Amino acid sequence: MGEAKRRKQADRHPRPEHDPDAAKREKIMLDPARSMGAASPTSRLPPALLQSITSQVAGFIAKDLGCDTKEKAMALAARQPVKVAQYVDGLIDSLFDPRMEIAGAPAACRAGCSWCCWMIPGLRSGEVDLLLAAIAQLPEEEGAEIKARVKVAATAIAGAGSSEAAYPLRCPLLGDDGRCRVYAARPAACRAFASTDATACERLYQGGDDKSELPMTIRSAYAQVAYAAVNNTFGDDRRNATPLPIALAAALDMGPKPG
Ligand code: SF4
Ligand code: SF4
Repeated sequence: MGEAKRRKQADRHPRPEHDPDAAKREKIMLDPARSMGAASPTSRLPPALLQSITSQVAGFIAKDLGCDTKEKAMALAARQPVKVAQYVDGLIDSLFDPRMEIAGAPAACRAGCSWCCWMIPGLRSGEVDLLLAAIAQLPEEEGAEIKARVKVAATAIAGAGSSEAAYPLRCPLLGDDGRCRVYAARPAACRAFASTDATACERLYQGGDDKSELPMTIRSAYAQVAYAAVNNTFGDDRRNATPLPIALAAALDMGPKPG
């Protein structure tokens, strides 16, 4: 990335606060499991732990939704995508509950820190409806601004060929104050994402780091393994997840359609 482009991006992006000691703390290197992801997010955790989290997730889905087979889970996701999306959100959020007593370095994430929001998440179908409902609750002017940004981002992704090729690309739901405008309804990919080091996120944004080097919190590691297990149970291949701007543009009938 050229210096002029970097400076331009830095000018329009609020610089997040960060903890200078974060780099000294324990790091778990995981892939973000968003549309940027190439390597498996589960690849650096012990196999027994992976298996344990995966089994627990399958048990929760069987007990909570009555889906004790992949076929039943896929049928439910096709029939009631919003219900499944809300369930997945709740499951991922529960892994960030401090009562889980998961040790490790704390998250550097805080309101207004948003380097990760230039990495476009992929959506499952129910998430599109949840986001549209959240956007509809916003003041008219804000909704119109989001729609304009959806169009710009969807066109950029269509032009580049993928959201990864278009990176860094501002999520159309990111406010100018660095906060998600629909935080309570944000996609599961965003919920499962927390880093111990905001400067590493910034370096990735600036194009200076490999995405697989982002230090994730242990809670985020659990959440991402659980998220992978959820997606596997519901037959949802995240490599084919529709990028948020493309999914929203299609739903709003204003841009490129999902491939
Ligand atoms: S993941 Fe990184 S950029 Fe995103 S809020 Fe956390 S520290 Fe900030
Ligand atoms: S949906 Fe919200 S949290 Fe997720 S990338 Fe967009 S602005 Fe960030």
